[in-house]
Amino acid sequence: MADSFFQKLLSVFFPKRCPLCHGVMEMNGGVCPSCEKTLSFIDYEQIVNNCRFEYLSFEKNLSVFYYRESVRNYICDFKFQGQIAKGKALSKYLADAVREHYKDIAFDMVVPVPVHPLALKERSYNHAEVIAREVAFAVSVPLKTDLLVKLKQTQAQHGLRARERKENLYGAFSVSRPQEISGRIILLVDDIVTTGSTLHHCAEALLKNGAAQVYTATLALTNLLS
Ligand SMILES: [Zn+2]
Repeated sequence: MADSFFQKLLSVFFPKRCPLCHGVMEMNGGVCPSCEKTLSFIDYEQIVNNCRFEYLSFEKNLSVFYYRESVRNYICDFKFQGQIAKGKALSKYLADAVREHYKDIAFDMVVPVPVHPLALKERSYNHAEVIAREVAFAVSVPLKTDLLVKLKQTQAQHGLRARERKENLYGAFSVSRPQEISGRIILLVDDIVTTGSTLHHCAEALLKNGAAQVYTATLALTNLLS
């Protein structure tokens, strides 16, 4: 009783706000119903039937949103404007999807797609790590942020042709302590996926260094033609 009175009092002075629109919310956690309506969710059937990644080195990719409209804006705010709360809010949906659709896979660790140390200096945080942290926490699997490393600074994949994307990323990723991933099943996490090149090169580095299997989870799937 005392607790709920105290909570009510707290909510008067510190109301819960939606991380996407900053409007006051009644419920605790998540985003407000009107923001949720604007999110471009992918139908699960379409995710599993997506043959875009068929010949790549990871087993399967799971994305929750199409990279368009409001989702695109929120991800840009998260990546380029330092609005981490928006990234975390979207990541909760990915965490739910991983819990539901990857429930039969016994992951040993969650690994974010790394950024080069020089890029990290400029940006101050790795957005893939923010997402991976939310997912790892939700599925109770250890997060490993220093096993997969980026060795060379690469051009942004966006805007490059498929062949250029491959060359751009060739030899870009490595594993710092291979013994720690030997025989392990890894969930690799990033913000968006287009052709899957980045995920492919990361997964390849993990597999070459002894990982048993790599699955991927990304917030959003971009249109190949965009
Ligand atoms: Zn909202």
